[in-house]
Amino acid sequence: MPESSQKLRITEIFYSLQGESKTVGLPTVFIRLTGCPLRCQYCDTEYAFQGGEWWHFGKIINEVKKYNTPYLTLTGGEPLAQKASIALLKQLADLGYKVSLETSGALDIQAVDPRVMKVMDLKTPSSNEEGKNNYSNLNFITEYDQIKFVICNREDYNWAVSILEKHKLTEKCEVLFSPVNLDGSASIVKDLANWILTDQLAVRFQIQLHKMIWGNVPGV
Ligand code: SF4
Repeated sequence: MPESSQKLRITEIFYSLQGESKTVGLPTVFIRLTGCPLRCQYCDTEYAFQGGEWWHFGKIINEVKKYNTPYLTLTGGEPLAQKASIALLKQLADLGYKVSLETSGALDIQAVDPRVMKVMDLKTPSSNEEGKNNYSNLNFITEYDQIKFVICNREDYNWAVSILEKHKLTEKCEVLFSPVNLDGSASIVKDLANWILTDQLAVRFQIQLHKMIWGNVPGV
């Protein structure tokens, strides 16, 4: 790839505890890319829709090297909305980092390096972006990846269960059911936990750890 295309528009790079997925709780460097073609009604990173600065890959790699962790997460926004993200993921994996990618499920994941752990959303009806789900992505999900549903209410839960069954998702990879609330206090947290147990679903219930610790603020 030409040197000139080895750059990405970045909103922030920060070091924190991983708040979700299989590596929850582990110190991780987050590379938050600018821009997203979706507009989920519950989006908590609207500040990443615009702005940001261009960073060459060399500068990004120098920045992540400052931190004593092998765990890196490319997030957004929607990282795959910038084509060069595919090349950066490969370079980071080549350097030996344990890289994960948080992606909306709307954009094609086929070209993502197989060493990268994909955490892919399937957008529920309450996101208002259900129509953007790209179900052909399910052909490229491996057992090392995770599929995540953000659940706002019982309608979302019923929908997620139907998708789970239709696509046999728990046979493909680990599935995450995450309540939408931002501070852990809304009833959906307990409701979702009880629904999963009542229905004996083979999914992982997940609350975003970083929001429980620091609240809903950027850079954590
Ligand atoms: S895909 Fe993610 S970043 Fe984009 S609007 Fe939805 S929640 Fe926000």
